[in-house]
Parts: sequence; C-alpha cells; structure tokens
Amino acid sequence: MYSPQILPEKPSAPQSAGRRTWLAAAVALPTLVTFAAYGVAEFGPQEAVAVTPVTESLSAPELVSRVASTPFWREEVIRPGDTLSALIVRLGVDDDAATDFIRRDATAKPLYELRAGRVIRAQTTPEGKLLQLRYVAVDNTELQLRAAGDGFVVNQAPAALARETAFKSGTINSSLFAATDRVELPDEVTRQLIEIFEGEIDFHRKLQKGDRFGVVYETYTLDGQVVKTGRILAAEFVNSGRKLQALWYESQPGDGAYYSPKGESLKKSFLQTPVEFSRISSGFSMRFHPILREWKQHKGIDYAAPTGTRIRAASDGVVTFAGVKGAYGNAVEIQHQGAYSTLYGHMSGFAPGLKQGQRIRQGDLVGFVGSTGRATGPHLHYEFKIAGNQVDPTKLNLPHAKALDVREFARFRPQAQQLNAQLDLLARVEVARLD
Ligand SMILES: [Zn+2]
Repeated sequence: MYSPQILPEKPSAPQSAGRRTWLAAAVALPTLVTFAAYGVAEFGPQEAVAVTPVTESLSAPELVSRVASTPFWREEVIRPGDTLSALIVRLGVDDDAATDFIRRDATAKPLYELRAGRVIRAQTTPEGKLLQLRYVAVDNTELQLRAAGDGFVVNQAPAALARETAFKSGTINSSLFAATDRVELPDEVTRQLIEIFEGEIDFHRKLQKGDRFGVVYETYTLDGQVVKTGRILAAEFVNSGRKLQALWYESQPGDGAYYSPKGESLKKSFLQTPVEFSRISSGFSMRFHPILREWKQHKGIDYAAPTGTRIRAASDGVVTFAGVKGAYGNAVEIQHQGAYSTLYGHMSGFAPGLKQGQRIRQGDLVGFVGSTGRATGPHLHYEFKIAGNQVDPTKLNLPHAKALDVREFARFRPQAQQLNAQLDLLARVEVARLD
C-alpha cells in the first residue's frame, strides 16, 4: 500500500507560507490510505514546539478523478484565538464557493467552534479548490465536508479516539485536592479515587499530612491531546502508613468492581460517611472540624458541611420516610438489609423525585446539607440504627461485599500482578522525587 508522508515544515520558520504541512496524494486509491502524520503544536513563540506522532486513517478522496492534476492534503494546528477564515487561508483554500458554503450553511456551523491544539485538515486541488475538510469538533465528532456534485455536503460521525493509560502519584501536604491539583490529576479521577477507598478511609476526618496516592487510569486522546478520562484501573492510597490497593476487575464485560490484590472487595456494606467528600466540603473542613458533636452526646453524628453539599445513601435499601420530621427538619429514613436503618436530618432539600417506597443504591443522592429543623448551622445529622436503636457506626466493624471466588481469582491474579507492578513503579518514582 502506498503510504505518503506529511512532512512538517521547520517550526523555526513560522511566517511566510505559514506552518503548512503538505501531503502530495499522487495516486488516488479506492481503499483506505494510512499515513503517519506529525502534528506540530504551537502555542506561542516563547513556548517549545511539541512534535507528536499521530497515526490516522483517512478514506481516499473520491473526487480525484474529476480533477486533472494532483490534489493536496494540508493540516494546521489550531492556535489560541484562531478564526476559521484565518485557518482556511493557511490551509491554502482559494475557493469562493467553498467559503460561501461554510459561511452560510447550517451544517457547517460546528466548524466555527475551534479548540486550540486540535488539527484541521483540508484537501484541495493545486489551484486551491476545496475537495475535503476534516475536523474533530468540540463534542468529539469528526466533521467531514466534501465537494459533491456542484455543491458540498457535511457528514458528522464519532471520532476515533486513542485509548491510553496515564499514571499519576502525589503526597498530601495540606489537603487531598491541593495534592491532586499539584500533579494535575483531573477532578473526575480524584472523585473515583475517593469513591474507591471511602469504604476504608474516612476522607473527612482521617487524612494526614504525608499520605500518598498513586493512580493508573484510562485517557482518550485525539491528535495527542487528552479529550476525556476514563476509569481508574489501579489505585493505591497510603493513609497513616496503612497501604491500600485497588485493582479494577471485570468478571464479565461491563460488570466490574475494585478488589485488593488478594481478591477482596473494597466495597463495604455501608459508607464511612454519607456526606460527599468534595472540593467544596473538604475546603470547609479545613476551616471547621467536620464533626460538630460525637455520637455519645446525642445518638447521632453531626457533619458540618456547606449548605448544598451532597448527601448519599450509606447503603442499598428502601426509602421509608422523606419529609419534614419535627426537630430533624427535612429528613429521610432508609431501611437497609437486615435490621439496619439510617436517618439523614436538617437537609436543605431532597434528591429530585425522591419518595417513600423507592429503592435506593449505596452512594445515590439522598438530599443536600442544610439547617432545617432545630439546627444552629448547616450540617447533616446522621443516625445509624439496628432494630430501631441508635448505635455509633464509627465503632462498628462493618462487613465487606463479596470477595472473588477461586475460579475468578485465578483469572484476576495475572491482571492484578501487572497493575500492581505499575503501582509499585509509581510509588518508587514518588519516593525518588521526595528524596
Ligand atoms: Zn445532630
């Protein structure tokens, strides 16, 4: 198969012809043309120019036979502040009918939402007549504008994203979010990290300076840029010297959970705390101790948090009460498995649509922190009951979800060892950085 090359011009000569990259598609092929392109990202004269190899598959031009001479592919990296008309000029398009279509036709509209760093490609005749324009829009769909008959048509299809694995590790000095920000861990990944370990670690109260984390997670890239993050595949959290590890395992495609290297589930039957640990609530607890009053004083735990902080169901169950309940204000009660039940009070509002008799899953939104009923400030009043009697949940050793059986563990082990090795490597890198 013929594999033409896009040759990037020297980045040191950004003026004159612009940084045009040319592809001479000398032959028209009826099949797919695979070529290696070099996306040259340029974000300003003072910054270094990154060169990232990208492999793309483009369907061959259908209209080549119509034109006598050779068509060209060019690509441009979108710069901050770029306009579509500037890009069209840089792409060497000299075609009034095409620019008119792009300007007027509604289907061409997504082309105007440009994102710096992404690549836009055009195929033209040597005279500059537009044959094709390709661009992956902000919503990650690929737009293909093609000359067809006397006019143009626009097609839109999901772009092919490359799945990659990213590694991040950090040490907590002041707060978890300060540490994740420092290593640029996306908030969505931080949220997953908390969710994975919240059965074992009370993030509101037990985080300590010197705690460490390491994460291996999926990213999806386009033209070398991360466009979205996926799932955490492996994670490690060292809390007060206690090392916890979590490895993602799917017993069937789409049906997975996190397990320790020994195959034990990391999910507990009850959350350590029903108040969501978020950037907002964690900022709050740095200024105020999150526990207003301990259980022994009033048979419940009060978690101070800003009004509006999300409250989640501590475990699976059925809503047995949702409404106003005297001094509790807006309250919800949930009946769980066995004789367990939980109560959530002083809420500013309920989860949308929440009602009595509804089934609820662990972690589902119940309502929002507030100060309704007899409350001096915004906090969650949380009660944990066994057969209707309040008990202190922090004193209970709550059971884990089911561990992997022998057969599943045999399948899990080789994957776990591989992920474990990546976590170990991350931990060594982090230690080296601290030294
Ligand atoms: Zn209370």
